[in-house]
Amino acid sequence: MTRAAPPEGISRVALDVPLRRLFDYRIPAGTPAPQPGSRVRVPFGRRTLIGVVVENATESSVPEAKLKPIAALVDAAPVLDAAVLALVRWASDYYHHPIGEAIASALPKALRAGASPIALDVLWRPTPAGCEALAQGRLARSPAQRQLLELLVRHESIRQDALAQQLPRWRPAAAVLRKHGWVRCESVAAHIGAKRAASPPAAAARAPTLTPEQVLAVSHISAALPGFATFVLHGLTGSGKTEVYLQVIQQVLAAGRRALVLVPEIGLTPQLVRRFEERFNSPLAVLHSALSDGERLGAWRTAASGAARIIVGTRSAVFAPVPELGIIVVDEEHDASLKQHEGGFHYSARDLALVRAQRAQVPVVLGSATPSLETLQNVVAGRYRLLSLPRRAGQAQPPRLAVVDLRAHAVTAGLATPVVQAIERHLAAAGQVLVYLNRRGYAPTLLCTACGWVAPCADCDARLTVHQRSGRLRCHHCGADAPLPKRCPQCGFEVRPIGQGTERVEERLRELFAQAPLVRVDRDVVRGQGDMDAAMHSVNSGAARILVGTQMITKGHDFQNMTLVVVLNADQGLFSTDFRAAERLAQTIVQVAGRAGRGSRAGEVLIQTAYPEHPLLQTLMTAGYDGFARAALAEREAAAWPPFSRLAVVRASATSAQDALDFLTAARRLAGAPRAVKLLGPVPAAMARRAGRYHSQLLLESPDRNALQRLLGTWIEQLGELPGAHRVRWALDVDPIDLF
Ligand code: ADP
Ligand code: ZN
Repeated sequence: MTRAAPPEGISRVALDVPLRRLFDYRIPAGTPAPQPGSRVRVPFGRRTLIGVVVENATESSVPEAKLKPIAALVDAAPVLDAAVLALVRWASDYYHHPIGEAIASALPKALRAGASPIALDVLWRPTPAGCEALAQGRLARSPAQRQLLELLVRHESIRQDALAQQLPRWRPAAAVLRKHGWVRCESVAAHIGAKRAASPPAAAARAPTLTPEQVLAVSHISAALPGFATFVLHGLTGSGKTEVYLQVIQQVLAAGRRALVLVPEIGLTPQLVRRFEERFNSPLAVLHSALSDGERLGAWRTAASGAARIIVGTRSAVFAPVPELGIIVVDEEHDASLKQHEGGFHYSARDLALVRAQRAQVPVVLGSATPSLETLQNVVAGRYRLLSLPRRAGQAQPPRLAVVDLRAHAVTAGLATPVVQAIERHLAAAGQVLVYLNRRGYAPTLLCTACGWVAPCADCDARLTVHQRSGRLRCHHCGADAPLPKRCPQCGFEVRPIGQGTERVEERLRELFAQAPLVRVDRDVVRGQGDMDAAMHSVNSGAARILVGTQMITKGHDFQNMTLVVVLNADQGLFSTDFRAAERLAQTIVQVAGRAGRGSRAGEVLIQTAYPEHPLLQTLMTAGYDGFARAALAEREAAAWPPFSRLAVVRASATSAQDALDFLTAARRLAGAPRAVKLLGPVPAAMARRAGRYHSQLLLESPDRNALQRLLGTWIEQLGELPGAHRVRWALDVDPIDLF
């Protein structure tokens, strides 16, 4: 006799646990197989977890007796559509990160906890018994309950939010009525679907007439629609890139499709969002890291339902649901914040955007005033198409760059005399001035001039930064915080702050230009979007004449009357050991310079340096960013650094320096002598001790992406089993953007 029982189905489920595998569960008899991408509740140890079905199978390597059944299906339809699920799986493979954690970073927290993927309205209705009770006057002595029931009877049903508006104290009354069985409430899908069917928004209003270069860019991208192609939109800040995105997106929307726009953390300004909203008069879903769980869920639902026609977001928005995706735009594609570098899952949103666009067969546009060297090399190799916007849109002129030699002039509080004179000149001519310094606080060092003592951080290989106004010494790496001493703890002599931070530069500028209102923007004074908006408003309204700040002011903001930009200290980036430091410095200088002269007046840019003849500065000055990029790419090629090789780095930290090094040494030994992959290290990180832990790293380098991937595939899975692995925290970073 043959066994008649049909093979039972198996679901392979991803769980948010740090294990590099899927978990098999039996599909209970009589239950339809859950679709890949949908959530299920499953037993896991003693707990019940919510996981996502990645695939279904007919067989499992788990013995049948041990195979547990799925406890419940959460979704009838997938929360991760096929495109997003495929992208997450690709990312999990490429970055060698556990699939469960990868899926978790693609889903809002509320969805991971079981929330509905569609917006629900709660409706309240009277029951027949309730109607009868009201008719019989049984609520004569409970006015609040009677009022509520009357309202419900009159309207037949009311949405809970509307109810709360009409009767602010409805809740206790509703509870009593419900207990009597006189009212009931139910959740129903909100009517987002109706908006989805609505026709695409009307043609662009208030769009300027495009420049010939913009016309060309738009027409090249449009010609690729709806197929896959990668474009690099290279244009100075203010050259009208955003305008090109808007006009291309207009066509995508007109064809009934949707657009995904990725921006760096700091680039997602209310100004940008407003520009999209005003142009299209159509719902936008905005996803960024500062959203509350509820807001994030709301934005995700608006995207998933199709109600939003444009999805704008930072890094993780690359995993957002976008039905009928028509185009992906990555703005400021060079920006480091598009690569996740904290937490476990290191992925490049830009690179994943390309993967997503290729799979969806839609164009992707990488925009930047300072494209990354990788991207430019892909242009050289013919893989990406370059579209240039060489001029500024409207009337604006490109700014003039010059260096100020710190060795040749008197310098007080970090400001060289020619810089002070230039500020004076621009203020007198009714211009505004931006002073950029990538260091907050008053001074980076507190020094005893008698014995040479320097205030150190107890837990890091770093000095403490002086914060004069708050009277504190703070570590900018671990957050350590102590009172600012007046005298040296070692010899009792007077201590002195050495060097400049934004706080000190502000103090000096206020002394020099007492008549010119000043705003400072750095993380010490600007804590949230509200502070930032207020600061930007005071600059744009003309109330503030001088803006002093860190990186926070180098991107995204459009200042019409900023005629002078000063870069106070370019030298930190000139001699770094990181092979990307030069690229980053050049980008910062060009980006901050781009804040000058965005309006109709020409801008001036002054770069203070003690190394005016440094090749990087010289090339930037004479040949611009393109010239710099050509020279830098030649250097990278000679040294076989990316994009001419592929890197991965394993970072480990432990409470003892030896443990971290030993673990990585064992990891290196485990790798043996792989073909076409060089292992370099392990070495202590550039700042080895941070917050009391010792950091080391092992670098892997290969001319061949596939060779590197082949090694990582098996190797990474074994690292967790190395002796000593339990003493370290370690993480893999494929295509690292820095080597610290
Ligand atoms: P980017 O994104 O390259 O920084 P934007 O698209 O923001 O440039 O354009 C800079 C400024 O110029 C904006 O104020 C924009 O409205 C304006 N602008 C863009 N294109 C044009 C155009 N063709 N004619 C007039 N003004 C334009
Ligand atoms: Zn510290």
